[in-house]
Amino acid sequence: MNIDAVIFDWGGTLTPWHIIDLKDQWLEYAKIYSPERAEELAGELLAAEQARWSHQFETAGQTGTGALEVMFQEHGVDTSSASHFAALDAYLAAWDPHTYTDEDAVDLLESLRGQGIKTAVLSNTMWPRRHHESVLERDGVLHLFDYLLFTSETETAKPHKSVFADVSYNLDVTPDKCAFVGDRLFDDIHGAQSIGMRGIWVPHSKNIPAAESTDLGITPDATIDRLGDVLDIVNGWNAAS
Ligand SMILES: [Mg+2]
Repeated sequence: MNIDAVIFDWGGTLTPWHIIDLKDQWLEYAKIYSPERAEELAGELLAAEQARWSHQFETAGQTGTGALEVMFQEHGVDTSSASHFAALDAYLAAWDPHTYTDEDAVDLLESLRGQGIKTAVLSNTMWPRRHHESVLERDGVLHLFDYLLFTSETETAKPHKSVFADVSYNLDVTPDKCAFVGDRLFDDIHGAQSIGMRGIWVPHSKNIPAAESTDLGITPDATIDRLGDVLDIVNGWNAAS
């Protein structure tokens, strides 16, 4: 069966994996939104974020990541206020150094598309679409994707089959003709394989929290050292079919 579409995870796959102090990131937000209780608010937002990730993982994506917007509102943040917008800008700016697109991405995506293979992003994320799109545009790759799915806009998340099915449907390519590239065995590889896609694992990410790295005996269809290697894997599969 030919591969007619390649779908990419974002964090740790299209971007590098960095170990980050998440509390520091939230302090960037809190010291602008609520300088008088910045420590406290940063702690609350961090705990809320981590609770959401844990719940998403424990329910295998049946419960989605949700959106930051909702999380803020649950903590009494006025998301229409100028101070919120300024604080959110500072928060996302603090993430910038960790969002740069892998240096292999442009050549890889252009090569795949040059062969008529469709491309997409499927990301478990709470960030708004507009921010993800601006990051991809900054790095010159936004126009190289046929479809983008961010779970800040969906009820479910990886590894739930529904989000993989959504991408397959919108690319108009059946799952058996899709390859998924990701750095997490459970969310990415198991999720993709459970709907009949092939899973290409990029083991970039170190120190994924133990609670989120259950491998369940998952065997990727291919394992690569760097993102650009996706091209050889897909071409090899297509030459053999
Ligand atoms: Mg990832």
